[in-house]
Amino acid sequence: MLPSSRPRLLTSLTTLLACAAATTTAATAAPTQEDGPKGSRPNILFIFSDDHATDAIGAYGGRLAEVDPTPRIDQLASEGMVFRRSFCTNSICGPSRAVILTGKHSHVNGFQQNGNRFDGGQPTFPKMLKKAGYTTAMIGKWHLGSDPQGFDYWDVLPGQGAYYNPRLKRAEGPRVVEGHCTDIVTDLALEWLEGNKDSDQPWLLMCQHKAPHRTWMPAARHLDLYADSDLPVPDTLFDQHADNSSAAARSEMTIAEHMYLFYDLFVPPVEGADPKKGGSLDASGQRNIDRMTPEQRALWDAAYGPRNAAFRAADLEGEDLVRWKYQRYVKNYLRCVRGVDESVGRLVDWLAANGLDENTIVIYSSDQGFYLGDHGWYDKRWMYEESLEMPFIIRWPGVVPAGGASDALIQNLDYAPTFLEAAGAEVPADMQGRSLLPVLGGDTPDDWRDAIYYRYFEFPGPHQVAKHYGIRTDRYKLMYFHDLDQWEFYDLQEDPDELTNVFGAPEHTARIARLATRLGEMKAEALDAD
Ligand code: CA
Repeated sequence: MLPSSRPRLLTSLTTLLACAAATTTAATAAPTQEDGPKGSRPNILFIFSDDHATDAIGAYGGRLAEVDPTPRIDQLASEGMVFRRSFCTNSICGPSRAVILTGKHSHVNGFQQNGNRFDGGQPTFPKMLKKAGYTTAMIGKWHLGSDPQGFDYWDVLPGQGAYYNPRLKRAEGPRVVEGHCTDIVTDLALEWLEGNKDSDQPWLLMCQHKAPHRTWMPAARHLDLYADSDLPVPDTLFDQHADNSSAAARSEMTIAEHMYLFYDLFVPPVEGADPKKGGSLDASGQRNIDRMTPEQRALWDAAYGPRNAAFRAADLEGEDLVRWKYQRYVKNYLRCVRGVDESVGRLVDWLAANGLDENTIVIYSSDQGFYLGDHGWYDKRWMYEESLEMPFIIRWPGVVPAGGASDALIQNLDYAPTFLEAAGAEVPADMQGRSLLPVLGGDTPDDWRDAIYYRYFEFPGPHQVAKHYGIRTDRYKLMYFHDLDQWEFYDLQEDPDELTNVFGAPEHTARIARLATRLGEMKAEALDAD
């Protein structure tokens, strides 16, 4: 329950925000090139996945690290640096990609929510790298509606893309490629690297996977991973959201109520079953299965058939059923992650075999975080930690110290300025992020940002997460659900799981007022006038 003093404080904060928004002018960081790399310009290999939570990366040391989910990504981290406070600006697939391409917030680049169409005519970092003499390629999940621009070569999954035998589209047109999506995207990336290796030009390759996005369909060779073990369960699996704003309880992303046995977990409907359990998603789930070849389908059925029979026989209910769903979900998720991890291994092995590992920046990242049963949820969207976080691991021999870790507050806004500065190209003054070069040595300069600005727009929409915006510092988070006029405030040091909303707590009154002012300033600096 919120304390009774809340309405009065709410009014004053709203006033503060309005004042700050009216009086603060835009200010963007203008990175210099003085810290740029010496010698020849580096290649850039940007390996990007979809919905990969840091808890499912060994190098981040989170809940699932103990099952060794990502040996090759961990190796990359040991040869480079892990950013432990890396965040998105808007926790959803398409918008995160648009922010990365433009170095601008969603409300500035125009792609605020999935289903928007990216204005490919606007300036993007691949276009700028191309102009600066780089060869540029984009392979895999694009998810921005319009065709890619600024690439010498592109070959992308239309829309979300399929896991099995996906359709891909390149300039010549679409075709279906047989195999598992993660392997196909990797094969195509390696083909492009092979075809380009005799060029004298530096290059940018964006290799972007669909995995581990819903619905989590692993490659056949991974179907038995973790089959005989129980994965660690989050402490908050049965969170009732009693202390959050009303937005949490109104959302639709619980494993218990909104994760479907067939569509999500591949337990086929049986005669007489409650159709609400599958609902209209059953047809879509069937289409995903029907994409398989007879050989792929035989391997799939051999793995899931006996497990599904055992599940039916157990006739689980209540919390036992939720625990079962959690286990199947996260096992399949980690099986998809293993495919991505193998992709990272194949790509960096190719660099080493071709003498390109020294002069190639390798980055592993994902478009946002994800709930792996945390708070009872799957999916993303919220400004809470699990979905706000983005993994960011960078290997750059000679610039980034091996085995390093950084607590600098970084965002996907920063990638475009970073790539441009690394390439010795000019960073446009209207990009809203800041080049990471000053923090890549391991020290964070005094003038680095002390807070990040976040805003989520997609409501109404899938999972029904209310619109909100907020500010996060190294320790505190203030969130405002503006359509509901409800606030949340967390001390992340005392309450890392964000279970106790202390907005309105007397000991935090002054701190909240300061942060609300800062939030208004940052909103204005971000040119977010709405
Ligand atoms: Ca995503």
